[in-house]
Amino acid sequence: MFTPLTGRSVLITGGTKGIGKAIAEVFAGAGARVAVAGRDGRTGAQAVDDLRANGAEVAYIRADVSVAQDADRMVKETTERFGGLDVLCANAGIFPSVRLENMTADDIDSIFATNVKGMMLAVKAATPLLARSGHGRVIITSSITGPSTGFPGWSHYGATKSAQLGFLRTAAMELAPRGITINAVLPGNIETEGLAELGPEYRQRTEASIPLGRLGTGADIGHAALFLATEEAAYITGQTIVVDGGQILPESIMALEAQ
Ligand code: NAP
Repeated sequence: MFTPLTGRSVLITGGTKGIGKAIAEVFAGAGARVAVAGRDGRTGAQAVDDLRANGAEVAYIRADVSVAQDADRMVKETTERFGGLDVLCANAGIFPSVRLENMTADDIDSIFATNVKGMMLAVKAATPLLARSGHGRVIITSSITGPSTGFPGWSHYGATKSAQLGFLRTAAMELAPRGITINAVLPGNIETEGLAELGPEYRQRTEASIPLGRLGTGADIGHAALFLATEEAAYITGQTIVVDGGQILPESIMALEAQ
């Protein structure tokens, strides 16, 4: 049995939609107080309504993680509201598709601004508060795309998701003396609105490439993040957990057919 996270203060960037919202649901269900950050106020308000429906203590903070002042403010507001900060889920991310031959310098700047700079600014802003917590935790949402796999159209995205892991390993060493662990969850293909927009054929063919035969759910990622936030995970830092239904395992289509 894991020690309950009741009353812990959790900030989830990109917690207003998709995977981040599912992480928020899982933490709220475990008794944590949850702040979700994102840029769009309407989406944020809807997320708070949905998350509060189960009686959880939830707050929305409008913030663009790529802006340093916003990153500082979202940490400050969470701390003022909940009296401290115990867990940061650095989850906000974008994944526009563009092939290398059409990619502009702005495309590259924009994806690195949110996925890499935004993640680093959030961790930097949260560090003093997490250090005070006594059980500070950072959980980054990376991806299998980049660290393990490739997909045409997402070379810049894959670069950002690998960069997150490069950051993770040194950050783990710098944060360890302050009693903070930092780890990453690497989702495979997860059922979100963003993924639904890629169409039914994408979904069907992706499912066919996953040994467990289904897409992941946001809750699959939320439970991995929750584990990394527990007391029992206190000795794990600088590590990654792949949550992908076995998607990166088959070495060829033949390997899948031989299942
Ligand atoms: P999503 O449904 O599009 O949600 C993205 C969330 O991030 C939203 O809450 C969005 O809110 C927020 N966000 C985006 N840019 C932001 C910024 N600059 N500042 C603050 N918030 C920002 O995406 P998702 O599929 O849940 O993806 C979440 C994370 O999981 C990403 O890091 C992604 O790389 C990773 N991931 C997803 C999958 C998948 O299958 N879906 C697989 C592997 C990894 P606003 O737009 O209102 O700001």
